[in-house]
Amino acid sequence: MAPCATWFAAACPAGALQINLSKSTPVTLKPGAMAYALPYEGSHIVVFLDRVQAVAVVRQRVLLAHVFVHEITHILEGVSRHSETGVMMAHWNSSDYRTMTLAPLPFAAVDVELIKRGLENREKTLANSKTAQDRNTEAAVYAK
Ligand SMILES: [Zn+2]
Repeated sequence: MAPCATWFAAACPAGALQINLSKSTPVTLKPGAMAYALPYEGSHIVVFLDRVQAVAVVRQRVLLAHVFVHEITHILEGVSRHSETGVMMAHWNSSDYRTMTLAPLPFAAVDVELIKRGLENREKTLANSKTAQDRNTEAAVYAK
């Protein structure tokens, strides 16, 4: 499941993650957030690049990587929940920024389990979707 850029959205395979980068995020859109995902929809993520770039206490590439991991994990878990520790915390503070500079913030054990379950569910959903597409294709062939 490779991320798929929005400008190629029409060519994205079923189940591909689609990540938009917002460079001029309205202040009224999810104030304080650096990104959001649609975990129940299962494929869309919006990263507020301008807000990530405004955080000066940590290297941009380190913070951006954590933001991507956090939002992709929401999609993989298929739920909108946060953990008390690690990369899936709802808010990172200055201590977390220092920590992530030294090493990636870890996943909580519950997040590892939710990712496994979410991937299994995603596989089943995609397989069912593929089967339905095959049936439709088959019907189209017989209709000729
Ligand atoms: Zn979150």
